[in-house]
Amino acid sequence: MPQDPDCVFCRIAAGDVPATVVARTDRVVAFRDLDPQAPLHVLVVPVDHHRDAPALAAADPPLLAELVATGGRVAAELGDGQFRLVFNTGAGVGQSVFHVHGHVLAGRPMSWPPG
Ligand code: AMP
Repeated sequence: MPQDPDCVFCRIAAGDVPATVVARTDRVVAFRDLDPQAPLHVLVVPVDHHRDAPALAAADPPLLAELVATGGRVAAELGDGQFRLVFNTGAGVGQSVFHVHGHVLAGRPMSWPPG
């Protein structure tokens, strides 16, 4: 689906909902998370609506690659290039917005396994 008018990340990508955008390509937007969990916490989303990472991988692999590359660029430009990239996939593991988004988290030590 290109865009979903009821989806907040579609609306951010379209510029209809304000966000602090830190990077943008024709097909991908990166913006700061409203509730940051690390000194650097940016969400990277495709402009087109896809429910989650596997759905995006099936529908448009180059777009998933562009999303990951954009996350890496943001981490290098706004931090030291080291980052954790998280795709929560499913409500049971914490996905709350069903428009695929990579969480780029950086700027503090991180434990393993994640909680
Ligand atoms: P998830 O729980 O993995 O689906 O992540 C959704 C993320 O979106 C959370 O970290 C929220 O803080 C963030 N979020 C929700 N609405 C907005 C918004 N309007 N602008 C920026 N971040 C948002």
